[in-house]
Amino acid sequence: MPALPPYDPHNIFARIFRKEIPCNQVYEDEYVLAFHDAFPKAPVHVLVIPKQEGYRSFDDFSANAPADAIAAFFRAVGIIARQLGLEKEGYRLIANHAKNGGQEVYHFHMHILGGKPLGAMVTV
Ligand code: AMP
Repeated sequence: MPALPPYDPHNIFARIFRKEIPCNQVYEDEYVLAFHDAFPKAPVHVLVIPKQEGYRSFDDFSANAPADAIAAFFRAVGIIARQLGLEKEGYRLIANHAKNGGQEVYHFHMHILGGKPLGAMVTV
């Protein structure tokens, strides 16, 4: 059984970057779109996604995306965190992969979380 289902072009984040459904946008460039999480887990909770279909998770993106897309993605995450004013007090990045990561949406995305001390990294 594969770790991930096949890429679904109708997943919610693909529909958001194609502008078929709205989001609370905070940043966009040629490669990425960033928007507030609809169910925030911290005072600041932003999702960053590549504006390209096909990459289901971090595992998929890091293995298969072109180097320029990977570089642009991570450069943008830093820009967005600074735009949100998080770099001085700190923030956390999360990319959930597959079942054990608790991934819900199978279009690669990075969570940027901040705005207060976030405590223990993982509670089990
Ligand atoms: P993950 O568990 O890493 O796949 O995270 C998916 C995230 O997407 C969750 O934090 C959800 O709250 C968030 N989410 C789901 N639907 C939307 C939406 N329409 N707009 C913004 N965030 C969403």
